Amino acid sequence: MNGSPLKIVALGGLGEIGMNCMVYECGNDLVLVDAGLMFPDADMPGVDYVIPDFSWLRERADKLKGIFLTHAHEDHIGALPFLLREFSAPIYATALTLGILEGKLQEHKIDADLNPVQPRDIVTVGCFEIEFIRVAHSVVDGCALAISTPEGVVIHTGDFKLDQTPVDGEVTDLATFARYGDKGVLALLSDSTNVEREGYTISERYVGEALADLFPKCKGRIIVAAFSSNIHRVQQVADVAAASGRKVLLNGRSMIANVRIARQLGYLSIDDDLLMDIKELPYIPREQVCMITTGSQGEPLSALSRIAMDDHKQIKLEKGDTVILSSRNIPGNERTISELINHLYRRGADVYHEKVSEVHVSGHASQEELKLMMNITRPRFFLPIHGEYRHLVLHRRLAMKVGIPEERCLIGTNGDLFSFYNETAFMEETVETGRVFVDGKGVGDVGEIVLKDRRHLAEDGMVLVIIGLNKSTGELIYGPEIVSRGFVFEDESQAYLQTAKDMVREAVQELSLEFLSDREELRQIVRQTLKRFFKKSIERRPMVLPVILEM
Ligand SMILES: [Zn+2]
Ligand SMILES: [Zn+2]
Repeated sequence: MNGSPLKIVALGGLGEIGMNCMVYECGNDLVLVDAGLMFPDADMPGVDYVIPDFSWLRERADKLKGIFLTHAHEDHIGALPFLLREFSAPIYATALTLGILEGKLQEHKIDADLNPVQPRDIVTVGCFEIEFIRVAHSVVDGCALAISTPEGVVIHTGDFKLDQTPVDGEVTDLATFARYGDKGVLALLSDSTNVEREGYTISERYVGEALADLFPKCKGRIIVAAFSSNIHRVQQVADVAAASGRKVLLNGRSMIANVRIARQLGYLSIDDDLLMDIKELPYIPREQVCMITTGSQGEPLSALSRIAMDDHKQIKLEKGDTVILSSRNIPGNERTISELINHLYRRGADVYHEKVSEVHVSGHASQEELKLMMNITRPRFFLPIHGEYRHLVLHRRLAMKVGIPEERCLIGTNGDLFSFYNETAFMEETVETGRVFVDGKGVGDVGEIVLKDRRHLAEDGMVLVIIGLNKSTGELIYGPEIVSRGFVFEDESQAYLQTAKDMVREAVQELSLEFLSDREELRQIVRQTLKRFFKKSIERRPMVLPVILEM
């Protein structure tokens, strides 16, 4: 037996949905499973992405032997362009996952050691032997991992469902899971996303059937919005379009890119003849057009949002057109999506979405499927992953129901390091984790303090006070001038702002020369004077920025 315990710690993805990143460490070897990003909430203004903090990993960079990817969703691969700027290790994943990753890496001009694998392939790195196991999910070519370590086998499910009629016929490989179950599984780490849903998740194929029912009833153009990584969905829409005599117009940068990659790799079968160019649009009758686009979350710059606002150069909606939002409403986007739907109705279109029709199904396992996964793998320990805290707790309860003893149902959040040794497991320590914000080209330069300022500016606006002082006498010779943004409408508030200026002038004139020479002190006094005045007079708290010029 190896002398060192197996250590498992999440740098992201436990206690939140997004930025999945799990570390497996044994002796001098360390592997990563996934490195995803998370999209920012409303309280992170200006932030493009959120990625895990890799500080802990930085101290162990020389141990990193491989990066294993379960599937091509952003919450599993989106942080790699940032991770690979400072870490290097061979990356193992199936062809489509690598294809989509490669496109991202090219955009960031990053080279990587990409190694394609197929389901049931086994990769050996250091003391780990890792087998890829096919799972059904809302992106094609997804896999779970069976990670054989000196301490035993860990099954890491990734995102999965047990779709018995997946569009590509590639069902979750229960036989392989069962084979590991027979040999003995040390721990099962399983997808908790849909643990609140009873029963089974509906098959992806139902979406195809719902669309096949819907399309013939549509008189005008049809626009289907979906996630660009959902290749099966694109296939089903294209098939139904072909069957109902419609040509397909692809829209959205990632949609066009992913369809190209998936067609090249043979995951998507769409005839060239079926596809049309946007230039052909004016010449094709409305009832012969089906557009497949991104923008289902109401992203303001997307084509769909512009179409909804009647602000798209080439595409206008008319009465009788149909828009199908064939995707999940990501929590946090509900308000934007409902605005999008309102605008689409204003244009005269009919709108179908998951709340009113079966035009979307989930890619994650519901309770009965989760129980089945536990029963065929029969793990000694259970650790729920991929969920907010409540999902993890509920998944743990589910595990206890199928007979895994309470003390072997572990629960942890980001940074909780679990040690497995001699068939025992315990939480050893909590290591440093966190979130790093990406804004434009800056990674990590926007922290909590910058975000606090942005929220302050967004909520209360800003007031700039400019004062000119005589360099030698300290006498006030210019201003105070006040410039504000997002505070009051200056044209209508002249008198009010004049009072503010007077208050600043008085405060400055009262000061002794000694104070005037201490610029920081002076700024502080100006700031305090105005803050007090604004609060007392109109109960507002703008950011006040004094600027002192020496003339
Ligand atoms: Zn996924
Ligand atoms: Zn995921």
